[in-house]
Amino acid sequence: MSKVKKKVKTIRIDLDKCNGCRACEMICSAFHANPRYSSNNPARSRIRMIRDPIRDVYVPVYAGEYTSAECMGRDKYVIDGKEYDECGFCRASCPSRDAFKEPDSGLPLKCDMCEDDPAQEKPLCVQWCLNDALIYEEREEEVEEEVKLDDVEVGLGAMVDKYGLEKIMDTVARISKKD
Ligand code: SF4
Ligand code: SF4
Repeated sequence: MSKVKKKVKTIRIDLDKCNGCRACEMICSAFHANPRYSSNNPARSRIRMIRDPIRDVYVPVYAGEYTSAECMGRDKYVIDGKEYDECGFCRASCPSRDAFKEPDSGLPLKCDMCEDDPAQEKPLCVQWCLNDALIYEEREEEVEEEVKLDDVEVGLGAMVDKYGLEKIMDTVARISKKD
């Protein structure tokens, strides 16, 4: 299978620079409001602040994948001797908690890197973080080329033309009987 170049977008988080201002939550929820910028509500943001102001701990967490089932195990974090809630820094939209769920519909929220047309120069939360705690980076990676369904169909069509449908079905039946 041939390799293709894929652009990987990342946001590096510099915790030492974050002061918990929550501008990132505000602009993310406003950008994704419908109509755009018509409202802001941190509960609709795809980045959430884990905050402990007394101990000066602020951790931005990005919304990741949806999961239909909770994990078997739970992560606990200890930072500067303070223990944080289980699941506190997890990115998943998961049945065990309300984080990263659209408050009205309950639908999962996931960071989409501010996909837009035309594309944003940088994700909005990066642009609005005046403390430079969020740093946008792009890099290229080589990955296996995905087989497109169209290509599979064309390949199958050519085989049917060459060998006939019956012969192909017989062969598939024979292969699937093998263990
Ligand atoms: S990159 Fe865009 S979608 Fe993702 S958290 Fe930041 S503002 Fe929200
Ligand atoms: S905008 Fe920057 S400094 Fe403010 S809470 Fe978000 S990451 Fe932290």
